[in-house]
Amino acid sequence: MCNACGYCHGYCQVFNLSRLYSSFADNDLSYLANICHDCRACLDACQYAKPHEFHIDVPDSLRDLRHHTYKLYGRPRFVADFLGRSKYGGFVLVVVAMLLSVSVLGLSTLPEISSIRTAAPTFYDAVSWQVMMLVGAVPAAWSLTAIARSTVSFWRDIWGQSIERPQILDLLQTLCGIFTWHHFGALSHGCQGNGLYLTFRRKYLHLGLLYGCISCFAATVVGTIYHHILGQPAPYAYTSLPVILGTVGGGAIMVGAIGLFIVGPRSSLDRKADVSLLPSLSLVAFTGLSLLLFRESRAMTFLLTLHLGAVVGFFLSIPYGHFLHGPFRAIAMLRAASQIKTNMAVSAKKTQTIKLGPAD
Ligand code: SF4
Ligand code: SF4
Repeated sequence: MCNACGYCHGYCQVFNLSRLYSSFADNDLSYLANICHDCRACLDACQYAKPHEFHIDVPDSLRDLRHHTYKLYGRPRFVADFLGRSKYGGFVLVVVAMLLSVSVLGLSTLPEISSIRTAAPTFYDAVSWQVMMLVGAVPAAWSLTAIARSTVSFWRDIWGQSIERPQILDLLQTLCGIFTWHHFGALSHGCQGNGLYLTFRRKYLHLGLLYGCISCFAATVVGTIYHHILGQPAPYAYTSLPVILGTVGGGAIMVGAIGLFIVGPRSSLDRKADVSLLPSLSLVAFTGLSLLLFRESRAMTFLLTLHLGAVVGFFLSIPYGHFLHGPFRAIAMLRAASQIKTNMAVSAKKTQTIKLGPAD
């Protein structure tokens, strides 16, 4: 319909790329759905949207397709099918993991904590370093393996035979898109979200979320270096590098996640789309910041177990929900860069043949 109409061509890459097709296989639609970033500008422009009888709604249709791809490529399949049954599946998993963590870790460490009378307990008095490593590393390894498997399946499915292998330039172009979001919003005028006007609120909130996650990851890496290489175990001073990185990252995640939940399209709440990621991220950031704030109080053990539970649940749930949009979109953008280049080469060859003519 959009290819025939053509009114929105030029709004974003989805419409430009869709013109390269005269018919769409399932994998082409998965690819295009993951190029869309849900700015909703094409819905405002569409003359066939409600109340027209065709009820065309490209952003909602592509969002449904994107969420279908999370179930389709989620690995292992039976976990993806199970968690994909409810749009709150991932969030429920995080809450259950928090409750389990408080019950198991909290109760088992209570006698040790109550026997410490001389000084305030540290993190490792409450939960030993070995246990902390185990509950962090095993779910993280599971999560990374599952995400890698899903991404490879998606890559294999959407990368057509006719598309050239990506070159360094395509990779750089994709990385630039991921870290700057320069493409965000139709014709670079921002995006609509649940408001009436085009703004850049969603772009900056998304960037806050991305850089917040990177900062928290950096805090963990720096903390590990302090512990294992410099021989300085936690807790660290409020002015130390791991605490600053963790605080800035946690704050950015909370602002980004809550902000995106508020300004994001309302229609996603009415549909089957997975809406667990933002509340789950907020819980992880909130429990982490609370732990930092009350680490010298009696509530520390409880908050630590709550935070560990939130992290475990988060790691276990992310390979089966909206988090997959990150790697899937990166692969789709890489394919778009390679496809545009391949098509330009084919067009240039055709033009050259026409200019020279068969006799030449
Ligand atoms: S919602 Fe925005 S990104 Fe998605 S297809 Fe429409 S204009 Fe493109
Ligand atoms: S979204 Fe509507 S107006 Fe835009 S190209 Fe498609 S059918 Fe045409």
